[in-house]
Amino acid sequence: MIIVMSPESTQSELDAVVSKIRASGLTEHVSRGSERTIVGAIGDERPLNEQSFEQMAGVERAIHIVKPYKLVAREGHPAGSVIDIRGIKLGGKQVQVIAGPCSVETQEQMHLAAAGVHAAGCKMMRGGAFKPRTSPYAFQGLGVQGLEFFQAAAREYNMPIVTELMDVRMLDTFLEHDVDVIQIGARNMQNFDLLKEVGRVNKPVILKRGLSATISEWLMAAEYIAAGGNNNIILCERGIRTFETAYRNVLDVTAIPVLKKETHLPVLVDPSHAGGKAWMVPALARAAVAAGADGLLVEMHPNPCDAWCDADQALTPQELNDLVASLRLIAQAVGREL
Ligand code: PEP
Ligand code: MN
Repeated sequence: MIIVMSPESTQSELDAVVSKIRASGLTEHVSRGSERTIVGAIGDERPLNEQSFEQMAGVERAIHIVKPYKLVAREGHPAGSVIDIRGIKLGGKQVQVIAGPCSVETQEQMHLAAAGVHAAGCKMMRGGAFKPRTSPYAFQGLGVQGLEFFQAAAREYNMPIVTELMDVRMLDTFLEHDVDVIQIGARNMQNFDLLKEVGRVNKPVILKRGLSATISEWLMAAEYIAAGGNNNIILCERGIRTFETAYRNVLDVTAIPVLKKETHLPVLVDPSHAGGKAWMVPALARAAVAAGADGLLVEMHPNPCDAWCDADQALTPQELNDLVASLRLIAQAVGREL
């Protein structure tokens, strides 16, 4: 069951709800969102009764959720959550395009990339300093120096940064370097210890879909983060593995309306890792926005031919600019803004 507290509820009303859950032999997870506090009762729900909670002061609604994911389920937040990233809203009317290189390479490359992202009208930037590479001999990312190059470039345009965390031991370093959005990559979607740790911090998290993860597995992974108290979760569809070999992954457009029905979390789409080729990115990006995505995560490099990682799928700054312009029309057609 989840208990949705009313916006005006007090701490003592919340304490009373928690005591009642504990008295029933269950444990609670309190998650504080920007608009509402939601309390999840974890365990065998049979002794709980919705009405007895709804009669309590400060409680707006009590909802019995049979699904294994509760805090991220749409039922608890029908309006959909909006994540605030240093004043930039993800999940609202505006569609956000987050762009930048696959990996941070040099200070110069990041300056050029930041200029291109900003010129295209994007408000946030992506870039990997810690890279999950299939081969141990491939470039693994610049590490902490990469975070520094990234911040120096993005700050010039006051753009929040999105970067991947692969190892719990680097979490404090990410916080010290003021990373605005922590990305959990596809390969770590079910790294439960990592999910628990990012659940304890109050930073927005982009949770990418695992290479072959079902939507239910993905939402349960998101639930790990929410159960730790962090509600600032954004999902990112990045293509799934199928029998098809003509492109890198299959962009699961069907996942977008399904997620919109199942969860209140904002949904991003990464057309770059889905298609794996730059020329496919505009079509996939337009399909994603048309299907209701809240934003895109797009790879762009100042000089794609020279990219140290994922060169084939990187857009040029000009291509990014043209893409954003064409997406504006699609966004308008589906009642959104860009
Ligand atoms: C990335 O976004 O840089 C990345 C590695 O993506 P994914 O985890 O989806 O493969
Ligand atoms: Mn990449």
